[in-house]
Amino acid sequence: EKTPVTLLGLGAMGTALARAWLAAGHPLTVWNRTPARAEALAAEGARVAGSAAGAVAANTLVVVCLLDDASVEEALAGTDLTGRDLVNLTTSTPAQARARAAWARERGARYLDGGIMAVPPMIGVPEAGGYVFYSGSPELFERHRETLGVPAGTTYVGEDAGFAALHDVALLSAMYGMFAGAAHAFALIRKEDIDPGALAPLLADWLVAMAPAVHQTADHLRSGDYTRGVVSSLAMQVAGTPTFLDTAEQQGVSPELLSPYFELMRRRLAEGSGEEDLTGVIDLLVR
Ligand code: NDP
Repeated sequence: EKTPVTLLGLGAMGTALARAWLAAGHPLTVWNRTPARAEALAAEGARVAGSAAGAVAANTLVVVCLLDDASVEEALAGTDLTGRDLVNLTTSTPAQARARAAWARERGARYLDGGIMAVPPMIGVPEAGGYVFYSGSPELFERHRETLGVPAGTTYVGEDAGFAALHDVALLSAMYGMFAGAAHAFALIRKEDIDPGALAPLLADWLVAMAPAVHQTADHLRSGDYTRGVVSSLAMQVAGTPTFLDTAEQQGVSPELLSPYFELMRRRLAEGSGEEDLTGVIDLLVR
């Protein structure tokens, strides 16, 4: 017998989640503020509740996937959460998630927060590698692990309800740094007779080859020894920065994406950390 699921929110992500649970044979009750978005799912076997309160009353497991934290507040106002297992997959900040967890507990619900590391086409497609970070009630996670694992993989990151959001934002922040670097790389060749399509695979392979450097960074942070295993010293790397800035200048490319990072490297070097590599930059960021 598959666990029945209530799902509030049938946007792009909610609809993908709904289809995955229906395909796996879970009884599903859905609600969406704009009722028209539930019509296709009704035809696929979902029960459509006329109100959020009705949807919440239908099942113990209540999954919410709305636009933002304010919409969760609005949608759940006036619903009875007593005894519910509330799983909130709405993207939020760690502080919002913690506040929402306390809010849910006050209303008699157990709470799990989620951060979705996937786009809708990856939902229900295990080989796509998408997953969801979960944090909050460990009992709730254990109880519904199998059901929650239907749309995407599950990675539990701790009892602090804010940790799922924090992991989500940490990974996406690193992604933006990577995109910023790639944008600068493409800008450098933009006016040349170089095919961006030829640069792309070189870029992708290089980024993948460099990515494991994060393991050494973690080792430095854990040991407190930022010089361990360093092959490219900060002193050498800072000495190389004019090459990057001069090349940008020669190519007519703004250095505005690279400069802030180089500035942090120079500041760390000025503190006498030339034997380290780049780990010390982290300490300059943490206020
Ligand atoms: P959509 O914009 O497609 O859908 C938003 C949903 O929120 C709709 O169901 C909408 O209802 C509902 N909503 C908005 N405001 C309110 C409100 N005040 N009261 C009740 N319902 C409201 O967003 P997604 O489905 O794509 O995203 C949902 C969540 O999933 C977001 O937090 C997003 O960050 C997260 N996410 C999305 C990803 C993506 O690639 N799409 C990837 C990872 C996470 P209505 O139909 O009535 O407008």
